Amino acid sequence: MTPPRACLVALIALLPTLAAAQSAVPPDADPRVRQIVAAVSETRLRALATRLVSFGTRESMSSTTSPTRGIGAARQWIFDELTTSSPRLQVSFDTHVIPPQGRFTRQTELRNVMAVLPGRSPRRIYITGHYDSLNLGSGGQQALNAAGGLNPQARADFDHDAEAPGANDDGSGTVLTMELARVFAESGVQFDATLVFICWAGEEQGLVGSAAHAQALAAAKVPVEANFNNDIVGNIHGGNGVVDAETVRVYSVGPEDSMSRSLARYVERVAAIYVPSHRIRLMAREDRFGRGSDHSSFTRQGFPAVVFREANENFAKQHTAADTLEGVDFPYLTQNARVNAAAAASLALAPAAPTVQNDRGQNLLTRGPSGYDAQLRWNAVPGAVAYRISWRDTWTNDWQHRQTVGNVTEFILPNVSIDDYVFGVSAIAADGHESLTSAYVSPVRQSADVKVVKD
Ligand SMILES: [Zn+2]
Repeated sequence: MTPPRACLVALIALLPTLAAAQSAVPPDADPRVRQIVAAVSETRLRALATRLVSFGTRESMSSTTSPTRGIGAARQWIFDELTTSSPRLQVSFDTHVIPPQGRFTRQTELRNVMAVLPGRSPRRIYITGHYDSLNLGSGGQQALNAAGGLNPQARADFDHDAEAPGANDDGSGTVLTMELARVFAESGVQFDATLVFICWAGEEQGLVGSAAHAQALAAAKVPVEANFNNDIVGNIHGGNGVVDAETVRVYSVGPEDSMSRSLARYVERVAAIYVPSHRIRLMAREDRFGRGSDHSSFTRQGFPAVVFREANENFAKQHTAADTLEGVDFPYLTQNARVNAAAAASLALAPAAPTVQNDRGQNLLTRGPSGYDAQLRWNAVPGAVAYRISWRDTWTNDWQHRQTVGNVTEFILPNVSIDDYVFGVSAIAADGHESLTSAYVSPVRQSADVKVVKD
């Protein structure tokens, strides 16, 4: 069969660019990313976690005046540690005053600790974990799970100064975030995306610190491309006896072709290249059953996000004084940090993902002049030298076919039915780094009830 003319013209005109994109450093051999992955230090993760738990508690309403105990001393130490870890980091407190609401029984000043590594463009990639900790009293999270979610924090007599080391929840995600801030800043690599490393407060009261931050981002129309959130990523001994030191779960909210799912697939693909000894277990749901974390503050505002979770949890230790350093396996935490590092570095070196809708929100996907082809169009992305189109059967959850095309904004797949396949497009930089894949998502049909004459 003769390919359609438009397709041929596009291919012939752009062969040199395509060759350039493919002959440049291929992404699976980018020494910059390998260097970043290798620089993640188990020794430093352990040292940071040891210091973090020494504050006794980091509960969101614990002391802010003691120099040695409570959330005030802890956040100042995180701030200072980020500041001294690299002069390239712009460190600040992202402060929000929260009036009494929900589990906040009094007005509380929350301070997220933020470190920004500016890139060439304003598009942002977030790596995050929450530094606040919690002791729910006897039974901890396991008792709360069994009780069906009645939360003692809203009681006036709740003890905000009880011992809450939070080594794993979420000391693990906190020190992962702090270590990646150092590694990315000290790499000397100039990224296209701006990287933002945040240790959140107020997570245990209902994702409050991250919600306040993400709301402000949405109001200011800041382009946020990804949130890699890490919450409970350091334990390998499940409370049920299962031990797993080689798997991490990555949760992402649907629908199947949401940008959050695209981000999850990206993590899996890049991890296979740079951290092949670690297994990524993609989870097609927002989070564990009935539980949550700060990535949801991002997805709620329409920003792509995933959350990393250890393979098997020990619920009996969570939200108790027993969440200590002994429950953190540092080689495992290091592997999880390396997965984050590989994916975030690759994404930050890539162009932005192309949008595949027009400014009225309509998909740029048609049946083409023949009426039976797949004609894909997309919006050009700065820094892209080529694009890749992906497609798959509708009743599957990962791309089955991929094809690199030139520096074009249109491509026809002859005789491929847009009714029978899902399509997506990604952008490729000159050095081979690829963006997230934007899918043409078929909208759910909206219609009103029909009127019926009642007799
Ligand atoms: Zn947590």
